[in-house]
Parts: sequence; structure tokens; C-alpha cells
Amino acid sequence: MDHLSQLPGRSTRVIVNLAQLRRNFDLFLKEKPAGLKFLSVVKDNGYGHGMVQIAMEALKKGASYLGVVTVDEALELREAGITAPILLFGERTAEEMGICFEKNLTCSINSKEAFTLAKKLSSQRNQKLTIHLKINTGMNRYGLDWSECLEVVNAAACCDTLFLEGIYSHFAMSDELDKSFAQLQIERFQSVLNQITNQGIHIPLRHICNSGGYLDLPQAHFDMVRIGILPLGVYPSSVCRRVPGLAPVMELHSRIAALREIQPGEFVGYGLRYQAQTPRKIAVLPIGYGDGFPRVRNEGSAIVRSHRAPVVGGIAMDAMMVDVTDIPGISVGDEVVLVGKSNGEEISIHDLAALRKSVSYDAMTSIRSRIPRVYSSET
Ligand SMILES: *Cc1c(COP(=O)(O)O)cnc(C)c1O
Repeated sequence: MDHLSQLPGRSTRVIVNLAQLRRNFDLFLKEKPAGLKFLSVVKDNGYGHGMVQIAMEALKKGASYLGVVTVDEALELREAGITAPILLFGERTAEEMGICFEKNLTCSINSKEAFTLAKKLSSQRNQKLTIHLKINTGMNRYGLDWSECLEVVNAAACCDTLFLEGIYSHFAMSDELDKSFAQLQIERFQSVLNQITNQGIHIPLRHICNSGGYLDLPQAHFDMVRIGILPLGVYPSSVCRRVPGLAPVMELHSRIAALREIQPGEFVGYGLRYQAQTPRKIAVLPIGYGDGFPRVRNEGSAIVRSHRAPVVGGIAMDAMMVDVTDIPGISVGDEVVLVGKSNGEEISIHDLAALRKSVSYDAMTSIRSRIPRVYSSET
């Protein structure tokens, strides 16, 4: 990527505010119970913020672990010189598991078959593999069923080529007001842990909480929490607990690439989806659905010179148009905020998610790598 850093920056960019990220971690650290460890989830390019950068900051703030999903992601962290423990969520092929030995990656073990494979590979290689057993307590995605996992737990604890460092589960619904299903999952997980303890097995890292669980289910913190979205300054839902001072790390900015005035009756964009009723001034922004902006029509807005400029027409692959008729002093090159704040006006990632008819997680990770990430440490 070195040759790319020589190029002039694209006027459309994701601004990642590292100072805010550090503040968010500090707020979390200040209120988190002492002794509670945290794993920083940096999968999917750190939710679109840049995986290595987020991981580095998390480690500086004391993260015990990093969490990713693909082996490629873990290798990118290792290639960046990160030696911290990395937990891989999800399922591994035999070939991938081989890489886990070489790169010292912690494997999730989701099934009896995965355990058998890990055991076989570790004895063949005569090399120890660190594992975390994943328990299915109701999400019904990955994991050994809570009611019938003890055989594998025992076998893993006894296996001297495997280091059974962790046991974990995952909430299907932790960030909504109704916590009854989360409570059921905690009880199931706790019953597994009780049986393990009764058998004299000690597993040092027991974990079930994501950001929602961390915020609202303190009784389920156990030894470690796995937080992804929270340090990015975005809440998993509109109803979970708030941390005063927490603020979004990501902004999406562009600049006006062209301006034109159109007469009543004229159209804007593909499919003639907008027709001017009065004379309008239209600004063209060099960002489209090919950059991950939602492909909406006559919906949403941008902030230009601290004023709202509504989207007119449909979003194209590489461009979108906004109406700037009523905004004074507009010129080509003006800064445009698509996600972020400007003098009291704000477009949040949740607003972008609403345009996609989706959630903030999806909106953040949908911003493509075609848009450069710019890191700012301004306070
Ligand atoms: C993505 C993920 C998380 C993080 O969830 P957030 O809501 O972003 O905190 C935690 N655990 C697992 C297994 C995940 O896949």
C-alpha cells in the first residue's frame, strides 16, 4: 500500500478520531470493575475504522485479548507486529487450525469434531494449542450445546496438548429492555460453569458479554467482556445504558465536487427521480453506493456550512446530489459532513443505518475500503 500513501488524498474520507477513541477507552476503564479483563473485538476492519489502529489503541489501554473472525484478519494483526493473544471466533478448517499453531492464535472450539481435530493436530505436531470452548446457550449459531457439553469440557481439560484457557457463550439479545432471554442464557452458562467447578476443573477466562451485556448485565461479566462497538462511541441499541461522555470515533466527510443551477421542470440523476419545482442549486458530492453509501432516493441529507442539504435524486455508484439552494456562500471544495457533527447539526451512524433500513453495525462496516481512512489525534 506504500505507493498509495504517495497519492493525494481523496476528498471523500472516513475520519477516525483516535483522541475520542482513547477518551472512550478511558471512560470504560474508569467505570469498569477492577479486575475485569476485556477483549477488544476488531473484526471486519475494526468495524470499518481500521483493524490494526483500533487494536493498537485497545492494547495500549490494557486489552487482554483481541478478537477477530477470519485467519486473514489474525494474520494481518500478527504482520503488524502485534504479539498479544488473539481469539478467533467462528469455525476453522484443518488447514486454518494449522496456522493457529504457527501464529499462536487461540481457537474457538465449537463442536466435538473441532475438539477432536484440535487434539489430533496438537499431538501430531507435538505442539500446544490454546483453546476457548464455545457454548451454545440459545443463540443457536456456533457452540457445543450447554446441556451436553460436559464430555468435551472434561476431555479438553484432561488433554495435555491443549491449553483450555477459556469458555464462553454469546448473547442473542443483550441490549434490549427485555432481558429475560439473556437471563436464561446466563443461567444455562452458569450451570455449565458450576458443573465444571464441581469437577475441580479451573478455566481462567469465562466470558459471555458483548457491549450490550457489559453495559446492562453486570451479573454476567465473569472474568472478561468482549467489546466491539462500545469503544467506537456507538451504542448497540437505543435503550441500553449510557456512558456519559462517550462519543463516536468515526466521521464521514466529503467536499463539493461541482455545483449547478437548474430550472423548474429539470430533473436530477438516474431514473429522473427528482424534478425541480422552482430554481434549485444542486451540489455534486463524490461519493456513492460504490463507497458504501446507502442507495436511497430523495432521502437523507448532508451538512454543508452547518446547514442541512437534502439528497435529491438517487444515489449513484460514485456520486450523489444534494440541494444547497438555501445555504449561503456555497462554493466548490466546501467541506461536507455525511456522518458527524457540525455546529449543532449532527448526522449519526444510526441515521445512516436508518437509510439502509439496518443497524449501526451494518452502516459502519458497509463503508468500503475505497474510501481512505484518515487518522486524527486532535482533541
Ligand atoms: C462481534 C462480537 C462481539 C462484539 O459485539 P459488540 O456488540 O460489538 O460489542 C462479541 N463477541 C462475539 C462472539 C462477536 O462475534
